[in-house]
Amino acid sequence: MAAEQGKGATVCFEKDLGELYQRRNTLASQLKRAIEVAELRVYYQPKVDAVSGQIIGAEALVRWPHPVYGFVPPDEFISIAEENELIHPLGTWVMEQAVMQTTKWQMTVNEKMRIAVNLSPQQFRDSALVERIKNLLELTGINPATIELELTESMLMTSGASTIDALTRLKALGLKLAIDDFGTGYSSLAYLSRFPVDTLKIDRSFVMHLQDSAEDQSICRAVIQLAKSLGLETVAEGVELEAQLQWLAANGCDLIQGYYYSPPLPAQEFLELIHRNADLMNTALSVSRKSG
Ligand code: C2E
Ligand code: MG
Ligand code: MG
Ligand code: MG
Repeated sequence: MAAEQGKGATVCFEKDLGELYQRRNTLASQLKRAIEVAELRVYYQPKVDAVSGQIIGAEALVRWPHPVYGFVPPDEFISIAEENELIHPLGTWVMEQAVMQTTKWQMTVNEKMRIAVNLSPQQFRDSALVERIKNLLELTGINPATIELELTESMLMTSGASTIDALTRLKALGLKLAIDDFGTGYSSLAYLSRFPVDTLKIDRSFVMHLQDSAEDQSICRAVIQLAKSLGLETVAEGVELEAQLQWLAANGCDLIQGYYYSPPLPAQEFLELIHRNADLMNTALSVSRKSG
């Protein structure tokens, strides 16, 4: 009986693996075209001031609404793109969309609106990366200080001279740098003094159980203190609960990102959210003026 079950499980496992393999091949063969015909979408997830509740900007997150598979998670197709050199056209497209969209929002709703874009380590192998971003800045006239690049710790740890050179040039253009998923990569902090970092993003895994884990509270407190003493900003990722928000605000975390406020949204829905948020801020302001 046990042996039979074992065999069944193996067959099932092989079938799953086969399907996964096939799906990956299909996606790999279709991704190039999907990028070319702009089948991908950029979604925007708000970053919110932990104390005031004001939306100060967004993170751009790419989406692939696949005609057969539905929404394919970026964790799946970004790794395909990274293996196939497609990360260059994909990354360029996301950056252009996000920066052009944000320029519009800055001109129409909030001139301080910030935008964060994720970059893969592979994108730094492209010697034209910095030049392309520079051209985009000139084309849109956007304030470079409102653009933030999200990089992972492992990328900074393993980066060579050319990556350091590119990051230095991007900083010289006025862009900001954030460490994404902070605390999950290499535990060496040496790169914090070597790179001109502006922001630490506390990984979702430390936020998830924050409301009832003394250990995670200690870790978050330590990261926030570290950031403060280095003059860096902190963002908490994956905030889903009121209790997490309260704890983070009380302990000095600057910005909040997570489903508690909003999932990533298409541009039009994000714009509606900004308008609702602005109304809320105005109401709060007039109430405090009356009572003050
Ligand atoms: P990330 O940069 O760490 O992005 C945060 C991820 O957490 C996003 O997943 C977001 O949708 C999700 N998230 C946000 N709030 C919550 C929450 O409250 N609860 C939970 N459970 N999840 C939350 P997403 O959009 O699936 O992206 C996954 C990863 O794919 C990103 O992680 C990033 O590493 C990568 N990625 C996404 N877009 C791009 C892109 O344009 N370029 C590159 N190179 N990578 C990208
Ligand atoms: Mg990110
Ligand atoms: Mg992250
Ligand atoms: Mg991530």
